[in-house]
Amino acid sequence: MFLKRIELQGFKSFANKTVLQFDQDITGIVGPNGCGKSNINDAIRWVLGEQSVKSLRSGGNMSDIIFSGSEQKKKVNMAKVSLVFDNSRRIFDTPFDEVEIARQIQRSNNEATYTINRTPCRLKDIQELIMDTGLGRDSLSIISQGNISAFADAKPEERRSLFEEAAGVAKYKKRKQASLSK
Ligand code: ATP
Ligand code: MG
Repeated sequence: MFLKRIELQGFKSFANKTVLQFDQDITGIVGPNGCGKSNINDAIRWVLGEQSVKSLRSGGNMSDIIFSGSEQKKKVNMAKVSLVFDNSRRIFDTPFDEVEIARQIQRSNNEATYTINRTPCRLKDIQELIMDTGLGRDSLSIISQGNISAFADAKPEERRSLFEEAAGVAKYKKRKQASLSK
């Protein structure tokens, strides 16, 4: 499973519809300070259900992630981001080769709507779809700048626990501890 494409429209600095295609094994996104690299990372987490405006590095309301205007361009009233994943290995439990997950928000009501393969759904449906795929909230599929220095500074035992998390051993360890303490 891999992320094939991101489409952003009205999300943070991406006022116009922008499509990023990730066909190769590794894609690097480079650019000057403030050009929107981290906003792409925020967009991915937003679609996957991030509810904390602060952790999206934005203002007080979720609608603050909508493009707020610049010298050349007027603000817009809607933000939409969609992620298209390759699902040929059926990591997502759906019979489709491609899975598109999208989230949209209107400035007028500050409310988000979600779709999976263009069918409206609840946030819960997205959470269930990504559960145990490595994309979930506490997974290591997104590692931010702060995480890297924390990893470098960590004690060996703490570092080991991160490897255990990534290898999927952590949940068995937790279950073992739970059953031993009964
Ligand atoms: P750095 O290299 O410094 O980490 P970056 O490429 O990661 O930079 P971002 O943090 O992604 O940059 O983008 C910051 C830019 O996004 C700022 O110019 C900010 O004004 C703009 N931005 C953020 N939210 C909005 C919004 N709602 N509307 C318009 N522009 C926004
Ligand atoms: Mg950045």
